[in-house]
Amino acid sequence: MLFGSHISTEAPFSEAINRAESVGCECMQIFANPPQRWNPVAIPEKEISRFIDLNKKANINPIVIHSIYLINLASSNSFFYEASIKTLIDDMKKAQLLGAIGANFHVGSTKGKKLSEVIDKIVLGIKTVLAASEKPYLILENSAGAGDIIGDKFEELAEIMAKVNSPRLKVTLDTAHAYGSGYNVAMEDGLEETLKEFDKYIGLENLVCLHLNDSTAPLFSNRDRHADIGKGYIGKEAFARIVNHPKLSHLPGIIETPNMKTSEEISDIELLKSLRK
Ligand SMILES: [Zn+2]
Repeated sequence: MLFGSHISTEAPFSEAINRAESVGCECMQIFANPPQRWNPVAIPEKEISRFIDLNKKANINPIVIHSIYLINLASSNSFFYEASIKTLIDDMKKAQLLGAIGANFHVGSTKGKKLSEVIDKIVLGIKTVLAASEKPYLILENSAGAGDIIGDKFEELAEIMAKVNSPRLKVTLDTAHAYGSGYNVAMEDGLEETLKEFDKYIGLENLVCLHLNDSTAPLFSNRDRHADIGKGYIGKEAFARIVNHPKLSHLPGIIETPNMKTSEEISDIELLKSLRK
């Protein structure tokens, strides 16, 4: 498994490559738009070409774009719904320009409705985004399932995928979200069971990225609380199993915590590298 983290794209945008290299990233995740704002912001052309040039040397691959936090393809507010689609299309176009594999996003919240009442809207939104972009994957991320947030159970993501029916619709598995929603990836048999379930509903061939976060929220808590590797309920031993698992070891493993020094005075990326067999 290749390891990387979420890297800042604060201006100048292309500096993300140098920042990633300096913390030991082998792959990485970035925002291509300000995560808390609706209006897509253009990346200067010279920043795009410098980004690509720098990465020819650094070879940080794959790159995944994380879309903005505001996306909600289940929103009954037409402004939010249209803006979600517009932003995802922008992220997909930027993914293609930057050589990223695709745009990862959280589907959104049903806000008290059943998934069956909003699924057509979600499916239409995803199809619109896919039709407006050429190559990159559109990547659904599993959620911890707080409140009415969609995608905590693999069945929900599978339902959406079946209706969209596109080979470009893929999935990211976030270990902390999975744990919060009751998939016990901390235990050896729990990990096996999780992968079996994933394969049954979604298909392991559709898994393109892992978010490697430990969790300070307990199993079945439906809470999303990322922790540094080894500092939560999942634990270091479980991550050693995850990163070396034959069904997962070909995937990029992205950490979303600040990659701070752990108690052992090494960063999460260094820690994960030390677990890699
Ligand atoms: Zn995540």
